[in-house]
Amino acid sequence: ILPEPPHGRFAPTPTGPLHAGSLLAAVASYLDARHCGGRWSVRIEDIDPPRCPPGADTTILQQLETYGLHWDGEVSYQHDRGEAYTTALDALIEQGLAYPCSCSRKEWRQHAVYPGWCREGVRRPSAPKAWRLRTDRCRRPVSWHDRVYGHQTFHPELLGDVVIKRKDNLWAYQIAVVVDDAEQCITDVVRGADLLDNTPWQIQLQQALGLPTPRYLHLPLVMGDDGQKLSKQNLAQPLPHEPDQVRALLHRTLQALGQDPDPELAHATVDEQLAEALAHWTPSAIRPGAIPPGEVQA
Ligand code: GLU
Repeated sequence: ILPEPPHGRFAPTPTGPLHAGSLLAAVASYLDARHCGGRWSVRIEDIDPPRCPPGADTTILQQLETYGLHWDGEVSYQHDRGEAYTTALDALIEQGLAYPCSCSRKEWRQHAVYPGWCREGVRRPSAPKAWRLRTDRCRRPVSWHDRVYGHQTFHPELLGDVVIKRKDNLWAYQIAVVVDDAEQCITDVVRGADLLDNTPWQIQLQQALGLPTPRYLHLPLVMGDDGQKLSKQNLAQPLPHEPDQVRALLHRTLQALGQDPDPELAHATVDEQLAEALAHWTPSAIRPGAIPPGEVQA
């Protein structure tokens, strides 16, 4: 039997334009899916509308085009997937794997993770309720192999009952990402290492819902000047769109991914750079850790 061709995805939350950190994830997931003839999809993770300014999705898609990252098929959006998430939540409830919870963060702030107080019955029935995953009934510890970070094990004390539907009725990232990765038959998740510690909940949810677990490759994080992950909060610059700067940034991004791009191609078009990167894609050259400020940004 021939192995199934990989299907990767880039799944930005459209809170604003892409920056150097999100470009690194887009480029790596694109190369990883496409280098052996696989598909690459884009999914806009807009489950939290108040955090997503109108038009940010369009800007992101334009930025991907500018950097030569052309996706397969239609772009999918999470805002119209509520029915699928409801079906998943119902399946968890039916198995006794999800429960309503009225606790506020303030109430359990002395604990490292939510201590499960509402597991045997909601504490304040009249208060607004979130839904949580009963991680004590899921397989623990959770272990898997990450293609960059290697063997991972997360023990129960790190795996609190995560929120899967919020008190304000918005869906939480963990359930949306699991349902959509499965629905789209994603085989390879390539994303920033800030989500490494979210992966065990996602694997628990996959197992609880009878869904396959994709391969995971977490990427080193691009740091801002403040030593934190580059983000809007530490004023990450949106990606440049002027052609010389675009070419230079793509070249530095490939360097940051350990891909050793030909220096002669530093000013080549994005299509030429990506074609060469695809031909030589070496995920084992990606080093875990942090990418210092200035290494990829201009
Ligand atoms: N939407 C998430 C983010 O932008 C990424 C989700 C994922 O790749 O699993 O941080």
